[in-house]
Amino acid sequence: MGRPQITGFSIRVGGSAPDLPRLSMVAGQLTPVSTSDGGVTWSGWAVTDGSAPTIAGDGVGVLLAGELYHTAALRTAIGSAADGVRTGAELLLACWLRYGTPGLRLLDGRFAAVVVEGGTVVATTDHAGTVPLYLRWGTDAIELATEAKALVGGCHGGLPVPGTQLAPGLPRVRRIQAGTAVTMVPETGFATAIRTWRPPMHRIVLPEDVAIARVTAVLDEAVRSRVDGRRATVVLSGGIDSSSVAALAHGVGALAESVSLGTDAGDEFPAARIVATHLGTRHAEFRIGAEDLVRQLPWAVAAAEIVDPDVLEYLLPLVVLYRALPGDGRHILTGYGADIPLGGMHRGARRLDSLDEVIAVDMSTFEGLNELSPVLAGVAGHWTTHPFWDRAVLDLLTMLEPGLKRRHGRDKWVLREAMRGLLPETTVHRPKLGIHEGSGASSVWTSMLLGAGVAAVDVPAVKRSVAIALHERVVGRAEAPEDVSFEEVLREVVAN
Ligand code: ATP
Ligand code: MG
Repeated sequence: MGRPQITGFSIRVGGSAPDLPRLSMVAGQLTPVSTSDGGVTWSGWAVTDGSAPTIAGDGVGVLLAGELYHTAALRTAIGSAADGVRTGAELLLACWLRYGTPGLRLLDGRFAAVVVEGGTVVATTDHAGTVPLYLRWGTDAIELATEAKALVGGCHGGLPVPGTQLAPGLPRVRRIQAGTAVTMVPETGFATAIRTWRPPMHRIVLPEDVAIARVTAVLDEAVRSRVDGRRATVVLSGGIDSSSVAALAHGVGALAESVSLGTDAGDEFPAARIVATHLGTRHAEFRIGAEDLVRQLPWAVAAAEIVDPDVLEYLLPLVVLYRALPGDGRHILTGYGADIPLGGMHRGARRLDSLDEVIAVDMSTFEGLNELSPVLAGVAGHWTTHPFWDRAVLDLLTMLEPGLKRRHGRDKWVLREAMRGLLPETTVHRPKLGIHEGSGASSVWTSMLLGAGVAAVDVPAVKRSVAIALHERVVGRAEAPEDVSFEEVLREVVAN
């Protein structure tokens, strides 16, 4: 089983114990949380592999969903208190006992966590908020959950809290910001926040060979740390990003299988096959009808909990692929997110000043898009992790001066060069193709709207309205996505 011990939770600090939560995450079993560690009473539910959901020691209670990476260095820093520590939660506890709240800046991983001590509650995300964490501070309790839908329905709370932002479409639910730890004292109502990470704004200048070597090393380490003895599935398009991850996972003997999604409107099967053949690894293709893919939008909205139709077009094919995969509890690596620090989406940005500007903007606006959320695969029982958003990879790629990203007429130049020895020449040079383009997700959604009588000029606005209407049902009312019909929602939107 490739999943972490805990993959999600919905808890309440103070007040009465909550009912069974409305979580989409099925990657594990719902286990009750009930404790008074840390000087407060907290209760609720965690999605676990059967392990105890919380741990406690020296008056501190910890709940951690997700996993920590690069833990050897952290153990060294903590010293003998880390001896015998096995799990991420235990390591967090040991780190906390040595460093306190600022120690959360040492943690490197994919997680959302709650730490309680002395009547104080601290809610924290990883550097990039890759495991979303939501908060509702009501009159009698603080509620925290890894899915917003678990917190809707209450009539109180939702006051501004430092380090949080409103979740889309939900007036009383707030999202803890990426790279942030929010400290709350339920008894007094006091709240404050610290940043644990920020995207770098400066750029470093390196000789070509040094930059290439650093990118190779840091990405290799990110993949090693993520597989950590497990066998992984790679979602592979044959583009440079996922092919890099597949090659590195294979290099450490951890690539169990690569998988590709295609539809009757388009696929990247030949490109992915070239990579799998080159590596000599097992590969599987899944083809579904493009309209059936679009009909699964309620699943994508329920998992991502967003209303942005462009982002939903990227995430939909992945959610559909995760749902199509046989087996339970796969450990999945993706190539998702490389384009943000490398500016890969901005193929038209010819000048380096505009390339760096869009990178700076994208790195400061990724929050809340939930593109890396584990719930996307968690709805199908799997766990994902994204080496390109490893903290050290993200730092390095963001910091590299833009001339290393667009060079000799190529986009993502430094990554392509770093992978030259591991991948076929055609893959190294393959132009970027977005997941929403390769699968036809964008174009088929558009043609379904046109078929329903929407004028071409109105398509973007209607896509947004459909996303909002779906969100209202599968998040706002926490309806099960299998009970929500895309076509019915589309008809209602068009009729209004
Ligand atoms: P490139 O940016 O050069 O196209 P890429 O295809 O690997 O590289 P994206 O297009 O940004 O990257 O797609 C994001 C990620 O989604 C990929 O890295 C891959 O993990 C996954 N993905 C995209 N398309 C598919 C597909 N058709 N089948 C399986 N996984 C896919
Ligand atoms: Mg692609």
